[in-house]
Order: sequence, then structure tokens, then C-alpha cells
Amino acid sequence: MFNFLKQRKTNKNSPIYLYNTLTRKKDLFEPIKAGKVGMYTCGPTVYGYPHLGNLRTYVFEDILKRTLFYNDYKVNHVMNITDVGHLTNDRDMGEDKVEKEAQKEGKTAWEIAEFYAKAFFDDEKYLNIIKPNIVCRATDNIKEQIKMIQTLEKKGYTYKTSDGIYFDTSKVSDYTKLSGQHLEELKEGARVEINDEKQNHTDFALWKFSPTDSKREMEWSSPYGIGFPGWHLECSAMSIKYLGEQFDIHCGAVDFINLHHTNELAQSESVTGKKPWVKYWIHGGFLNLDGGRKMSKSAGDVLTISNIFLNKGINPLAFRFLTLTTHYRKPMDWSDSSVVSAKNGYENLLSKISNLGNIIGKINSQWKEKFVSSINDDLNMPQAMAVLNEMVKSDILPADKLATALDFDKVLGLKLCEVIQKKVEIPASVLVLVDERETARKGQNWAKSDELRDKIREFGYEVKDTPAGQDIKKL
Ligand SMILES: [Zn+2]
Repeated sequence: MFNFLKQRKTNKNSPIYLYNTLTRKKDLFEPIKAGKVGMYTCGPTVYGYPHLGNLRTYVFEDILKRTLFYNDYKVNHVMNITDVGHLTNDRDMGEDKVEKEAQKEGKTAWEIAEFYAKAFFDDEKYLNIIKPNIVCRATDNIKEQIKMIQTLEKKGYTYKTSDGIYFDTSKVSDYTKLSGQHLEELKEGARVEINDEKQNHTDFALWKFSPTDSKREMEWSSPYGIGFPGWHLECSAMSIKYLGEQFDIHCGAVDFINLHHTNELAQSESVTGKKPWVKYWIHGGFLNLDGGRKMSKSAGDVLTISNIFLNKGINPLAFRFLTLTTHYRKPMDWSDSSVVSAKNGYENLLSKISNLGNIIGKINSQWKEKFVSSINDDLNMPQAMAVLNEMVKSDILPADKLATALDFDKVLGLKLCEVIQKKVEIPASVLVLVDERETARKGQNWAKSDELRDKIREFGYEVKDTPAGQDIKKL
């Protein structure tokens, strides 16, 4: 049933294959520096609660990071917080999302950013997402962004309009290499825009001037005038600041490919002159509402962790569980019944794990190998979950099933250990006797079984036979 990439004893140095948007195929993962991974993930724009569609992306990125950890890589993970500059139209038109929300709620833009950044990290905690090593805010890195514009200006990539400093995309010969789009297609998509001063419809703002007829809360002086940075610039400036001019992985949702990531890529490679800026671009699929509709902002207001899970007394990890049943690149459907499937699926798994008793035995290497083959094959989590289920149904010792499940949970992140009421640390010398006794019991050699029970007692442990297998307690 399972394809093995190759036979191996442990997961150390197992090949990992990841689908790379840049090459449009599954690539063998080879980081720039052996054993170390630099990873940048685009973070939230903090003007509202994240919806389940946003959170699906952060869970996939967490699974990727845990898979790298599981394969013995050290990961330096950097994530930004967009607290300024993301306009209501992604092509640099309209109002600033954070300032607009501040006006609506009667708070300052700084208060809004603080409040929703905290809400975001609360949700990440509910979903057992490991925090990045570095979380950086756009507003804390204005100097770096201005410096980047100055370099681009010196190299001849910029021009000025009445509302800001723009990046000239016609100077970049491989501008669409990430999306693989033809420029003609992009023109089609840009028909609704009204900005006559842009030299090319794909050009984007590096710096926007503050309006003259109203006062912005968040603005800074620059060699170009008072204003604020364009949305795409912060990710280039901060990733280079913390991860260097070239690094391994950049992630986000698929809707970032055509615009945000394409623009980040164009300006970063133009500023450093080094290619590739990022080796592997990994993108996660959407969460679709019933009927295949992409989740909209108004729907997103309802589909939050609080509304769907916490307020109904359901553990949000049920959502994490559900996301693992669809491959991260495929669209995932969401309907009213999804929350019930999520809850039932997760609770069913917890009950299977709790039935395994509380003795943690040995990790089963054969099942581990199947698990590694699945996760290292472009994070095939549906298959990894099938491996977990088959392993639990298999005829290995319950204690070994438990040890193996807990090992898999380093990647799954479903907090399976919380169902074990009491963890018992058993020395290896005793576990050998427990194994031997299991063999004796299977062979109906009751005399040998009793003899081993006495030996185990001499080590200070008492063994009891239960329907789930041997249960062991410290005397
Ligand atoms: Zn970004």
C-alpha cells in the first residue's frame, strides 16, 4: 500500500520532497546550509480576527516546520505582522486596512494592531502552532524598508508619481517567473484599476505619500516625503534582515502567488542582485465554503475559532485534525457539517489513544518508516493519518502503539499525550521483560508468564493483564 522512497533504519537524513511553486514540481529539499533551514512565512494583517481559511495556512506551515524538526533540521522561522500599509485594494488603492478598522471601532490604529495581533496568537495557541523564532512588525522596521527603496532607486528600479514611489516591473525580465502567468493575462485582471500614473499595470508602490486632505495616524518621514511603506516591501526587508539575502523556504496561501509574492521576489532580487532569493516557495490551498465559494471577508467574520469551536465547547484542535485529512495544496471544503466531522474525528482518535493504556513502550521502527515516507512526500498528511490509524489497529504491543503514536504527534501536533492520565516512566530493562512476557502470553506459556511477572516485581513494578494488554504500575 505504501511506497517507500528507500529502505532505512531511522529518519535521519531521509529525503524530503516538497512541491515548489517556482519550479512547478516536487523538488528534493536541500537547504543552503547543511542541517539548517531559514524559513519565512507571511503573517497576518492585524485588523480583524483570523478566519478558518487563514488559520488553515498557518497549520500547514506548522506541519512543514514540524516535519523539518522531525527530520533533524534546525529551523529559523521568521514571521511578520502587517500593522501598516496593507490597503483595501491589494494593488495600492483604497484605505489602509488597520486605520480603517480603527476609525470603525473608535480606537487608535496602534490599539487595533495590538488587539488583533494578540487575538491571532491566541488562536495559534489553541491550534498548537509553534511560535516563530522571530516575529517582526512592519512598523518596527521602517528604516530597513526606506533603505531598500534607496538601493532600488540607485539601481534605477523606481519612479515617482503624485501618490508615491513605485517599482518599475518592466525592468525585471523574469517578473512572472513565480506565477508562470503571461503578462497579457495580468492585463486582463487589472482592468478595474484606476491609476493612470503607473507606467505598467503591474508596477506597485514602495512608498505611499500621506494624503494632503486628511491626517494619518501611522506615518513616517523619509527622503521622499512623509508617508508609509507599501505592503510588499516589509516582507522583503524583514526576511533579508533576519534570514540573509538568500534563504530556503517562503510560504503563504495560494492567493499570494500572483501579486504579493511575485512583487516581493522582484524587488528582493533587484535589491541584492542575487538569485534565487528563495529556493523553495511552498503554498497552501484555500478553505472553500460549500459550493466551492472562496471564503469572503464577511463570511470570514463568522468563521472564527471562537464562533465555531470555543463558544460551542469544542476543542479547536478538532480543526487542526480536520485540516490533516486534506492535502495542504488541495482546496478544503467547509460546510456546517464540517465542525461535527472535525469534533467526531478528533474525539474518536483520542479515545483510540486512551484505550492503549498508559505504558509508553518502544517506537515501532517499521511504522515510523511508513510515517516518515508519508510526511516527507510533500507533507502527505492524509496518508500519515492513515498510517497512524493502521498502526493503532495492528498487532504490535499497546505500549509500543502508544510510544509510536506519541512520536508521530511531534509532527501532527494533536496533543495526544494529554489523554494519557498518568505517564509511567519504565526503565528499558523492565520493558524487555514486559515484551518477553507478552510473547509468553501469546504462546499461552503461563508458567513463563508468571515467572516474568515475579521478575518484573523484583524491579519494583507490578504488571496486570487487561483487555488492552499489560498494564504496569510502579510499586
Ligand atoms: Zn509577505
